[in-house]
Amino acid sequence: MSSWFDDLKTPRFKGEPQARVAKIPEGLWGKCPSCGEIIQTRQLQENYSVCSECDHHLRISALDRIALLTDTDSFQSYGDDFQSNDPLKFDDQKPYKERLAQAMKSHKMNDAFLAGKARLEGLPFHLGVFEFKFMGGSMGSVVGEKITLTLEGALRDSLPAVLVSASGGARMQEGILSLMQMAKTSAVIEKMREAGIPYISILTDPTTGGVAASFAMLGDVIIAEPKALIGFAGPRVIEQTIRQKLPEGFQRSEFLLKHGFLDRIVHRKEMRAELHQLFIRLGNRCKF
Ligand SMILES: [Zn+2]
Repeated sequence: MSSWFDDLKTPRFKGEPQARVAKIPEGLWGKCPSCGEIIQTRQLQENYSVCSECDHHLRISALDRIALLTDTDSFQSYGDDFQSNDPLKFDDQKPYKERLAQAMKSHKMNDAFLAGKARLEGLPFHLGVFEFKFMGGSMGSVVGEKITLTLEGALRDSLPAVLVSASGGARMQEGILSLMQMAKTSAVIEKMREAGIPYISILTDPTTGGVAASFAMLGDVIIAEPKALIGFAGPRVIEQTIRQKLPEGFQRSEFLLKHGFLDRIVHRKEMRAELHQLFIRLGNRCKF
């Protein structure tokens, strides 16, 4: 006898998953975007939002990421009152101001990045995390400033800095001001290097554009989650430019590791322990 759960699962094999999945109440069930398995949301949460069937790492929110990498209630945010003032008066299908206000309202954040000081297994550090759902995690002047604050905080306090990227790149609505954030953030990293203060960059799916082309690739240690999309331009644009077919798995963590762009790929379950180990090993100039 088949159970109601089997009924939910069956259509996947008949090639008509969409219609059935849509009937499942939201919040209770989720579908793995990689293998299509239908998973209970609670079960998914308990498994760090990693698919138990195929090990696909689903995208998680900035708050979930902070909870994953810090001691309970230790995160003290800063820069929460910064706001972009739309210097270009940018208007595409919708004015930028309106788009921004909408994102602020639905995500209860001032922009696509959370920055703060936290602890991990008791060790203090500075942490900055992208929220991909906020305008594709795009980096405008506010995000750039908060990244800079995170790095400068680490430099000032002689503590490690950790940045977790999940971003489509520079925010086009802020034009050149977005691109300037690449130089600004990179300049602080150079100061950290001179002072011997560790900066650990964690790349998650996706890390692209101006973010990948600046601070995200400048970590003393660069870690990625498995199978994350990491690259500057998208594969289609590259193919059209160089007029060649790209190799299999191009721009995924595993490919980048093989070609020396990453130091290691770490499973989400191991990330916390990994970070703690790095603090201990690289923190000889830190004032823990
Ligand atoms: Zn899966």
